[in-house]
Amino acid sequence: MAGGQLREIERLGRSLRGIPIHTGARYRLSYSFDATSERGCAGGVAFPGSLDDLARLLREAGRRGIPVFMRGAGSGFSGGAIPLDGGLVVSTEKMHRVLRFDARAGEVEVESGIVNRELQDYLEREGCFYPPDPASLNFSTIGGNIAENAGGPRAFKYGVTRRYVRSLTWLTAEGEIVLGAFPEGLTAGLVGAEGTLGAVYSARLRVLPLPEDFRTSLLEVRAGEEAFSFALSLLTAGLNPSVLEYIDAKTMRCVGEYCCFGGLGRDSDFLFIEIDGSRVEAAAQEALLGQMARAFGVVLRAARSAAERELLWKLRRSVSPSLARRGLTKVNEDVSLPLGALEEASRFVHALAGELDLDCYLFAHAGDGNMHVNIMTDRRRAEEMARVETFVERLFERVIGLGGTLSGEHGIGLTKSHYLSMVFTAAELELARGIKKAMDPRLILNPGKYFMPEAAACGGSVQRCSSIG
Ligand SMILES: Cc1cc2nc3c(=O)[nH]c(=O)nc-3n(C[C@H](O)[C@H](O)[C@H](O)COP(=O)(O)OP(=O)(O)OC[C@H]3O[C@@H](n4cnc5c(N)ncnc54)[C@H](O)[C@@H]3O)c2cc1C
Repeated sequence: MAGGQLREIERLGRSLRGIPIHTGARYRLSYSFDATSERGCAGGVAFPGSLDDLARLLREAGRRGIPVFMRGAGSGFSGGAIPLDGGLVVSTEKMHRVLRFDARAGEVEVESGIVNRELQDYLEREGCFYPPDPASLNFSTIGGNIAENAGGPRAFKYGVTRRYVRSLTWLTAEGEIVLGAFPEGLTAGLVGAEGTLGAVYSARLRVLPLPEDFRTSLLEVRAGEEAFSFALSLLTAGLNPSVLEYIDAKTMRCVGEYCCFGGLGRDSDFLFIEIDGSRVEAAAQEALLGQMARAFGVVLRAARSAAERELLWKLRRSVSPSLARRGLTKVNEDVSLPLGALEEASRFVHALAGELDLDCYLFAHAGDGNMHVNIMTDRRRAEEMARVETFVERLFERVIGLGGTLSGEHGIGLTKSHYLSMVFTAAELELARGIKKAMDPRLILNPGKYFMPEAAACGGSVQRCSSIG
């Protein structure tokens, strides 16, 4: 890190009264990571507590040319919040209030640092819910969810974050405050911009009434690729689940060990399905599911109480943590595919992992085609990491060939930016960079990420291999 940058951040801290800005080694180290195992280099960490704080901070940092890296909970899987080149991390931790709730309008306004779960708990007391539910909802923030356009298990029925943003209060790179209705003007570009175009202070979000009933079940399908075709048959037959998740046998064995729940995933793949709606609708849909399971010889275990439903959700939410224990390094790709291509993609992934002798685990938000491909490895083994790189490149080539994309929900960030030319033409990339330069002419907002990897002066300090997490 340039010593000049650190001194500039120290001067910034002295000039901005009332905004904690820390430049001690402990802070700089703790805020140099996200959920990947990439490590950046923070020059300092700031904790604004209000819109006014955030505006003053961005104005002053911009004036001094200090790069700014917005950060929610740091749970991102693509290095989006990782600071580079000794820049300033701006944490939203202290901006986590519910500003307004309007039941009649079906909306809530929150500061960007509120954790998704805290918002869900607040809304539940009001008889409502906010549909986007990333599996990280217990710790990820609404600001991070907006910046990544987060999805989650419920995305099949309810859609992803973009559908629920009504307006944003955000700040330009110069610290100018914009009150922007969505989807008009520049504000529309902020959802999914990964903190590269502006800093979100607060969001007005659409919320829905809580469904009257839930029916949750776990289905065991013969191992192989039949689970995807069974899932498609369910949808074709008229099932409209809120959640339709696929977990392969190997992943489920890890979940079983992690949750001390023996016997899971011996030779079956799993579908985790939740139906919601009125009591009548939910009962009719559950009956249809039961019929289809019998017709296809699929074992169905339905939750019969709130405690059993909670247990099934615990299994689903344990997928990522249970895998994290398997290898020193987890390469986690969240490619997205047309539903009809999931089966072929899954066959390809297993064959490729076999060919390259890699330890591979698969799960998917099967309803919306978002497949998570995990390779357990050890980044210290250079030869194995070279095979992982080959795997990732060939995976992306095949996914794009099947009509898919590089990322369904984790974003491009730092780890996938050098693959963008596989999806976009040079002219499209130039256009995207033009928008970035128009909104952030000095390139101080999250430099080195997404469409602008070359903007990082110290890119060499971060390992360049897809999402190593
Ligand atoms: C166990 C686990 C499960 C996960 N499951 C899912 C899932 O189901 N679906 C899914 O979509 N993701 C999932 N993720 C990924 C991650 O949780 C999401 O990307 C989440 O939206 C990131 O939120 P965060 O608060 O941690 O953001 P961070 O990681 O802190 O930041 C992510 C990006 O947002 C930007 N940012 C943060 N706050 C702001 C702000 N106020 N203004 C502007 N930019 C900002 C940052 O600069 C960065 O580019 C999972 C992660 C883990 C570890």
